[in-house]
Amino acid sequence: MENRRAVVVFSGGQDSTTCLVWAQRQFERVEAVTFRYNQRHEEEVECARRIADKLGVTHHVLDLNLLNQLAPSALTRTEIEVTAGSNGELPSTFVPGRNHIFLSFATILARQLQAKHIVTGVCETDFSGYPDCRDVFVKSLNVTLNLAMDDQFVIHTPLMWLDKKETWALADQLGCFDLVREETMTCYNGIIGPGCGTCPACKLRNRGLAEYLTEREAKHEGPVTPSIDGITFR
Ligand code: ZN
Repeated sequence: MENRRAVVVFSGGQDSTTCLVWAQRQFERVEAVTFRYNQRHEEEVECARRIADKLGVTHHVLDLNLLNQLAPSALTRTEIEVTAGSNGELPSTFVPGRNHIFLSFATILARQLQAKHIVTGVCETDFSGYPDCRDVFVKSLNVTLNLAMDDQFVIHTPLMWLDKKETWALADQLGCFDLVREETMTCYNGIIGPGCGTCPACKLRNRGLAEYLTEREAKHEGPVTPSIDGITFR
């Protein structure tokens, strides 16, 4: 029988929350996994827990403090400033090997849960130069994990070719636009919803949102439908 169980790599941010809802529409049983690696904002893990609760998804939090020890980055050290990469350098928020490690552990968890599908929100389109967000990397790791465990896992990347505007559009289609807009945390300064507005993650998220809202309003223009006391007549 076809396996319809999935594990979603879930950080409580815009992308992985959209992926979690996407997975709920695709699969019969969905569980989420969040990795705790003493990231800059412990609140990230709490935020993920609240959203998983709200969506009725079993939530696993796995400790990966080793990643913190091995990979100093602006996301693992408060003394390292968040800077965008310039002159071909990676941003200071790059955690070497993070997606590699997350996907590998998520797949080991999937095996315990008898799930064949793993979902991740990595994206090549708006990617900040992170090499482990690339499609070729995910496909390569998928082959490696199947060889490592002699199994047939499928890693899904529904956002791989979407830009941030299109990711907002997808959230809207899935019916989770408000949840993503108000309750997820993408901000490098740990502020939920619209965030600090100035860090690179906020800028990317908010620019995509502004573009999507402009496009949505343009679509809804046209003949004005009469409305009395909020009741619309079509
Ligand atoms: Zn921010």
